[in-house]
Amino acid sequence: MKKSRGIIVGRFQPVHNGHIQIIRNVLEEIDELIIAIGSAQLSHTPKNPFTAGERVTMVKEALNEININPNSYYIIPIPDISNHSLWASHVKTLTPSFNKVYSGNPLVQRLFIENNYEVTTPPLYNRTEYSGREIRNKMINDEKWDILVPNTTYKFIREIDGINRIKDLSQKEINEL
Ligand code: NAD
Repeated sequence: MKKSRGIIVGRFQPVHNGHIQIIRNVLEEIDELIIAIGSAQLSHTPKNPFTAGERVTMVKEALNEININPNSYYIIPIPDISNHSLWASHVKTLTPSFNKVYSGNPLVQRLFIENNYEVTTPPLYNRTEYSGREIRNKMINDEKWDILVPNTTYKFIREIDGINRIKDLSQKEINEL
C-alpha cells in the first residue's frame, strides 16, 4: 500500500516542546513526516538566531531523545523565496511527495490550500509558553526557559553559546540608537 506522507513547516527558532508534541502526534496518524526547516537562509538575527544546520541538529536530537524511529521522518531545510504564490511549488520541488500538510500558520495554510493540498491545523499546546519568541525573550532576560524545550535542545544551545548569541543580537548597534 502507498505510504501516507505529510509535511510540517516551521522555523524552529528554537525547537520547543509544542513542536515536538505535534510531530509526535502527527507521526501516529501517518507513515512518514517531512519536517521542513523554513527560512533556511536566515540566521544571526533576533527573530532567527540559529542556522538551518543548527536547527536540523536540534530537531534530530530532540526526536532521538523520545525514541522516534529515524526512518519515519526527513528533515529538509527550505530557503524563503520572494514570491508567496510560488512558495508551495518551491517546497514541493525540494521534498519527497506529500499529500497532507500540518500547520497552524495562516499564511502557510492558505498557500497550500490554493495548491489543492489537504491542510490540518494541529491543536496548540501551551502556546503562551511554548513559543519561539517567548523562549528567546526569556533567554535575553535571564528567565527560566529550560523546561520549555527538549533536554537535548537546552544542552545544544548552551554548547554553541546560543544564549549569548541571542543577547548580542538583541542589542542595537550604536549607530541605530
Ligand atoms: P514556527 O516554528 O513558529 O511553527 C511551526 C509549526 O509549529 C506551526 O505550524 C505552528 O502552528 C506550530 N506550533 C508552534 N507553537 C506551537 C505550540 N505551542 N503548540 C502546537 N503547535 C505549535 O514556524 P512558522 O513561522 O509557522 O514557519 C513557517 C515558515 O514558512 C517560515 O520559515 C516562513 O518564512 C516560511 N514561509 C515562506 C514563504 C516564502 O518564502 N514566500 C511563504 C510562507 C511561509
